[in-house]
Amino acid sequence: SVKEQKLHSAKYGGRHCVTMLPGDGVGPEMMLYVREVFKSVGAPVDFEEVQMDHTSTDTEYDHAILSLKRNGIAIKGNVESGNLSPDATSRNVELRADLDLFANVVVCKSNPGVKTRHNNIDVVIIRENTEGEYSNLEHETVGGVVESLKIITERKSTRIAKYAFDYALRHGRKKVTAVHKANIMKMGDGLFLESCHKVSEMYPTIEFDSMIVDNCSMQMVSRPEQFDVMVLPNLYGNILANIATGLIGGAGIVSGVNIGEKYAIFELGTRNTGKKIAGKNIANPTAMLRAGSDLLGYLGLHLHSDMITNALDEVLQDEQMHTADLGGQATSAEVVQRVISLIQKERNI
Ligand code: ADP
Ligand code: MG
Repeated sequence: SVKEQKLHSAKYGGRHCVTMLPGDGVGPEMMLYVREVFKSVGAPVDFEEVQMDHTSTDTEYDHAILSLKRNGIAIKGNVESGNLSPDATSRNVELRADLDLFANVVVCKSNPGVKTRHNNIDVVIIRENTEGEYSNLEHETVGGVVESLKIITERKSTRIAKYAFDYALRHGRKKVTAVHKANIMKMGDGLFLESCHKVSEMYPTIEFDSMIVDNCSMQMVSRPEQFDVMVLPNLYGNILANIATGLIGGAGIVSGVNIGEKYAIFELGTRNTGKKIAGKNIANPTAMLRAGSDLLGYLGLHLHSDMITNALDEVLQDEQMHTADLGGQATSAEVVQRVISLIQKERNI
């Protein structure tokens, strides 16, 4: 039997308290929709909203950390980091490191309502979320020479590999593919690959294979049906999750979670800010609502979670309800209204 992740969540009077970090770009408008849809399913969840955007001070950041440590769980919009000075850390990266959210999980499954080149994709991308190229260790040794360090440790490689195999067991998956570039980075990626290999020996019922990241990228766009669960170091995980998300319909429809021993943050699969589409009522609310549904499932509120997922799937079947990212003309608010009216029909209200 597989050990379920233990749940750390604040609960008062039968209601869960969840941290809400709206972030920048489309985040704040998406959070309003999450609130409306949670209300429509009657989810016993209260939000503690904490401001954390690109202007936030260290004090505000500490407040977000405290709230998260108290509540255990958050839903989050992305914090813009593109305009930071070279020595500043991205708040997103900092948060994941401070809370040791070592696994980023993005499930990419073809949706029957969204027409794409492939219709048989069902992959789970499990990405190491705290080291690798995101170690924030860059410096200019002498003028014109920059060292940008990529850290790979046996402990963290083994930990993410175990997470991937446990995930495969828990979800009835058959295969785990480790992705690497160990032919070039023989030591760093070599250690990652070897750690995955060692872990695989403890899971005889799950098939294990490995693939070099460049070939994997090509295979993902040409024959994606071959992949099941994938485990990757940080940057490769980022890139492959974006490729897979693009293949099934894009940033507007895919959710993701950052998870550790104690805490979990639910957000968009590709962590986009959506700066250019903010405030225009055109962003696709599906991805953030799925993140909300994932969060409810994590809390064990499966009925509420399924009600949202089912409504989203049904709405996606209707091309009249497609937003611009899917080639349609529907507004964000129209999609959310349709989702809520389906939920109300389901609940007979
Ligand atoms: P921006 O330059 O607006 O910050 P991002 O890098 O955040 O762009 O996002 C990448 C792409 O994904 C953009 O084309 C953006 O419009 C799209 N995108 C992000 N979020 C959504 C969403 N919720 N709905 C539709 N498209 C989205
Ligand atoms: Mg951006």
